[in-house]
Amino acid sequence: MRLTFLGAARQVTGSCYLLETSAGQVMVDCGMFQGSMHMRMQNRVDRCFDPAQVRWLLLTHSHLDHCGLIPRLVDSGFKGQIVCTSATADMCEVVLNDSAHLQVEDAKFDLRRWKKSGRVGPPPEPLYNHEDVAAALRLFRTVPYDRMVRLAKGLQVRFRDAGHILGSATIELHVGNPPTVIVFSGDIGYPGRPILKDPVIPERADFVVMESTYGDREHETVGEAVEQLKRIVVQTSKAGGALLIPTFATGRAQEILYELGHMRRSGLLGDIPVFLDSPMAIEATAVVRRHPECFDVQIRRLIESGKMPFRFRGVRFLRTPRQSQVLNDLATPFIVLAGSGMCTGGRIRHHLLHHLQRRQDAVLLVGFQAAGTLGRLLKDGAKQVYIFGQPREVKARIEALDGFSAHADRNQLLEWLRPMRNTVRRVFLTHGEPQACVALAAAIRRRYKLPVMVPDMNDTVDLTQEQAMTRLARIRGRDAALEAAAASNFGTA
Ligand SMILES: [Zn+2]
Repeated sequence: MRLTFLGAARQVTGSCYLLETSAGQVMVDCGMFQGSMHMRMQNRVDRCFDPAQVRWLLLTHSHLDHCGLIPRLVDSGFKGQIVCTSATADMCEVVLNDSAHLQVEDAKFDLRRWKKSGRVGPPPEPLYNHEDVAAALRLFRTVPYDRMVRLAKGLQVRFRDAGHILGSATIELHVGNPPTVIVFSGDIGYPGRPILKDPVIPERADFVVMESTYGDREHETVGEAVEQLKRIVVQTSKAGGALLIPTFATGRAQEILYELGHMRRSGLLGDIPVFLDSPMAIEATAVVRRHPECFDVQIRRLIESGKMPFRFRGVRFLRTPRQSQVLNDLATPFIVLAGSGMCTGGRIRHHLLHHLQRRQDAVLLVGFQAAGTLGRLLKDGAKQVYIFGQPREVKARIEALDGFSAHADRNQLLEWLRPMRNTVRRVFLTHGEPQACVALAAAIRRRYKLPVMVPDMNDTVDLTQEQAMTRLARIRGRDAALEAAAASNFGTA
């Protein structure tokens, strides 16, 4: 049984793993690479596997960096089943169609440039379009949480709630008899967040492929983040400024709306208008309301009693570009939530163009910002950035809150692994930048004495023959410096 890491290896985007079993090939996630031009180029590269040979694609959740290349996989010959929870399937329809729309728009823009610049090379084409998405959606098959589902003889799968976003799952694969259990964490949430249920952790695993986004740091608690949000809102409104909140359409947009609703009702928000300026987030919010089974008791009661947890006085949902443009001339203060979460595309870029140079305005980054994204540049304190090719001085206040992150932090990741620690033979850390993976690897080795590997892109390990051990030796040598840095930051875990 061989496992190949086709993405999210020492980076946070492009999640994709291929497991070759005697019952057939199983892929877990098929995510888009996001960030710098170099990263995005990887979306067009032909991969080192034959899509026609893959029988099942198991999907952890509907974030683009986990599902964004599905239409391309289908277009290149995949004819199997795409298995996920029902909420993930509904959310994928929204997310992939939005992505197709952006791909088509980008390609039109590139085509105009290609024509102007003398038609060098082949004309630019979209990565995929709405027809490709429709073809992909026909292959979806949904499964409930916690039920063991037989895919083939000697191959069973179980989806557990990952508590990350609506429909998100940790996937357990049971291969052979007696079964070898391989757990793919997907993105891991954490207990005690509002709206979503707490993560359900598999009881045992032989191998764990685990995310490590926040593997090198702890973030503030939700309670602390809410307090910070209140401070930022009050500060910006006193300054008479606009508050721009770049948000992922699924998850964070609803969480922030939920908190702003509380603030409105308690009088903290005054009469400041709030705009959700993202057609995808609006659709996602509608999908969210169709899946009460995914929520904690509080929200479920609200929805079942006919209330809308994400609507409150003075909040407006903006669908059309025209409605969005009206904000350019609107008197401040106001609050606008718009995609994308890492400022890599979407309407937030237009708002940044208008507001970054205004001292009284603020940008609040509420999620992980991957290397190479505009969000990361802002978070790292860039004095000047380019948006649509135009330079913009950054005079607005830049704030960042990790407590609204949908990802577990370092300690929560370690706790997530705890129930499996006695059966795990090896942990593979993915979905993190190098320093985060390596720091978490060091912490896992110290706390649980488990072998850990931080694979590289396209690495293959033979799970049957345990060849990973030899690779581990090499990897450890190379990562020693990063590990030492992590240890000096945290002491002993
Ligand atoms: Zn995610």
